Amino acid sequence: MRLLLVEDESRVASFIAQGLEGAGYTTDTVERGGEALERLRVGRHWDLVLLDVGLPDMDGFEVLAEIRKFDQLTPIIMLTARGDVPSRVKGLDLGADDYLPKPFDFDELVARIRAQLRHDRQQQGSVLQSGDLTLDLKAHRASRGGRTFDLTSREFSLLEFFLRHQGQVLSRSQLLNGVWGYDFDPRTNVVDVYVGYLRNKLDEPHEESLIETVRGGGYRFRSPQARTA
Ligand code: CA
Repeated sequence: MRLLLVEDESRVASFIAQGLEGAGYTTDTVERGGEALERLRVGRHWDLVLLDVGLPDMDGFEVLAEIRKFDQLTPIIMLTARGDVPSRVKGLDLGADDYLPKPFDFDELVARIRAQLRHDRQQQGSVLQSGDLTLDLKAHRASRGGRTFDLTSREFSLLEFFLRHQGQVLSRSQLLNGVWGYDFDPRTNVVDVYVGYLRNKLDEPHEESLIETVRGGGYRFRSPQARTA
């Protein structure tokens, strides 16, 4: 589980991130609303967003409204000192899933995150499917036409990312940001290496790869169904 924390006060941010790590969540932190939007636009890479209302460049409510224009699914919990009822209502109206006034009890934060993730999973279903390819997000298992693959967790994340963006051309940097995290060295060829691993495992012999190389662009995942239709 990977969370995006949008919080400009570094002490608060590192306190939350450390606590969440202890609770088993990986947390990426950004300080500005604009940066959060940039990251989130690349793809649905985080399971949940913790969003502070008082940010230096934008109001957290504005950030929330912008996120909801392109992503209605990722659970968002607002964090703010403004615990009064009107701003609580405003946040929920704009599409926040929950609202936690500061200072909060850490256990309560973790419990609310857990509740949101549970709810999210029920809504989305835990299985992604494309043609004869199935990705079981709970069991962390991938199979194609009844054949099960042994994927490393990185391969699994990459395949999940492709499946969530079927038919889209994804640049190397989008894939890098979405799967490896944005602070990864952009000159690396790790994306190409892992696309190679996935192709070796997923593709049937003598047929075109499910992961198409787009010249000058990046990669595009094609549904196994689309080719036979
Ligand atoms: Ca703040």
